Amino acid sequence: ESFNELNISKQLQYAIADLGFEKPTPIQAESFSVIMSGTDMVGIAQTGTGKTFAYMLPILQDLKFSKQLQPRVLVLVPTRELVLQVVEEIEKFGKYSSVRVLGIYGGTNINKQKQAAAEGADIVVATPGRLYDLIISRAIPLKMVKKVVIDEVDVMLDLGFRFQLTNILELLPNKRQNIMFSATMTDDVNVFIHDFFISPTTVSV
Ligand code: AMP
Repeated sequence: ESFNELNISKQLQYAIADLGFEKPTPIQAESFSVIMSGTDMVGIAQTGTGKTFAYMLPILQDLKFSKQLQPRVLVLVPTRELVLQVVEEIEKFGKYSSVRVLGIYGGTNINKQKQAAAEGADIVVATPGRLYDLIISRAIPLKMVKKVVIDEVDVMLDLGFRFQLTNILELLPNKRQNIMFSATMTDDVNVFIHDFFISPTTVSV
């Protein structure tokens, strides 16, 4: 399968060409139509399979340009390193799409992050702890969030983020698309899916 068969925008095609990607990886090919259809999705995939672009490709394809200050996509990841990595990948991928992305993570000055948040973003990539603090202090509005991605949910639960993750999800609009990636299907992950996902399609590579 080639990227052309996925029917993606010129802006994304140019970015993919710049990156030198020749064809979608299996998780990318399988996730695209599932995420575009709007149903909830559970992806079972390890790091290195191309899972970041597997969710960002359909999300960027679907994201209409807007000057809206409030984020419409939320990506939750377990660590600061992963926030920085995902932000970088979105910037490369969205370079012709004028997408605004904001990274939020702990261990740095919270007031600087509040200032950055006030400037607005289309996509927020965050660790659950710091994001929760910013939501509580009303620095990040969630009213417009249409899609949430929870990446490496198994790691996130192992790190003890269940409380923050649960609280964040409960504050999101009910009408939203839930997308999750996990390397393993543990009991913890299953409970989580049961509590928050509606008839998810499972994609496994
Ligand atoms: P990830 O699993 O998201 O951490 O991605 C692993 C690496 O694969 C990243 O460095 C990506 O830039 C790269 N990558 C993602 N998609 C493709 C693709 N379709 N072809 C070649 N490399 C890719």
